[in-house]
Amino acid sequence: MDVKRRKFLKIAGLSAVAGLAAPTAFNTLLKGEAMANEAEHEGNHKELEGKSEPGGIQYGMVIDLEQFRNNEALVEKCIRACDYVHNVPQYGNPKDEIKWIWQDDYEHSFPEHSQYKKNTTVEDLPVLLLCNHCKNPPCVSSCPTKATLKNQYGIVRQDEHRCIGCRFCMAACPYGARSFNWRSPHEKYANGNYKFFPYGINREFPMRMRGVVEKCIFCAKRVLEGKQPACVEACGNTKAMVFGDINDPNSEITQILKTRFTIQRKPAAGTDPSVFYII
Ligand code: SF4
Repeated sequence: MDVKRRKFLKIAGLSAVAGLAAPTAFNTLLKGEAMANEAEHEGNHKELEGKSEPGGIQYGMVIDLEQFRNNEALVEKCIRACDYVHNVPQYGNPKDEIKWIWQDDYEHSFPEHSQYKKNTTVEDLPVLLLCNHCKNPPCVSSCPTKATLKNQYGIVRQDEHRCIGCRFCMAACPYGARSFNWRSPHEKYANGNYKFFPYGINREFPMRMRGVVEKCIFCAKRVLEGKQPACVEACGNTKAMVFGDINDPNSEITQILKTRFTIQRKPAAGTDPSVFYII
């Protein structure tokens, strides 16, 4: 199916779901900018195809919460780096918020670990949250269009061009790691500047569009280019975040997991997260 037809069918479907008038759908279809983004997107996702194999590469992350204690600047740096690299729009209100990596408190992040008498040594820790790239991701099995797939690197990727905006994946994810685009990030001021990107625009990464779900993709393209994820890079030499193959016995992350006590979010959900926390 050619790109234009696929795009039309998707927008028509979205319009039906969202109750948009037909002209609105056609206007969206005709936006040259959106088409340019699509072409760029297709290129970005080519190398993300493929299935994960048991025992194959499984990228994961260790986040050392102690490194973020009393270091709001480092928390902010990590979030900003991700938001810039992935063109995450800043709508300025919680209802429309798009989250790739974000901060929450200990109690909400680890409800199974909360204590009757609060222990301030852990309760005060700022916790960075993101998609856990679960080994058994319920978001993948819930997606009717295969817009969410686990690739050969154990990364749960998201293809907004297959997404029909049904949001089943959001209902299936126990971690609130997915966001729905209720608004168009493409809105501009009269002077031509984008409205929702205070950190600037990264021309090497496509913007998403209204009506699709998005989330952290573990910087899949950067990783394939031999780089670290943007948030990990932003941490510098602090080792506050370490990324690597948790199935490789010689990787740094595996050594950390072998020698430090770590916890995962909501282990009772049975998803087996690939993001671990040192508390
Ligand atoms: Fe899917 Fe949520 Fe797990 Fe990410 S954290 S892989 S979105 S179930």
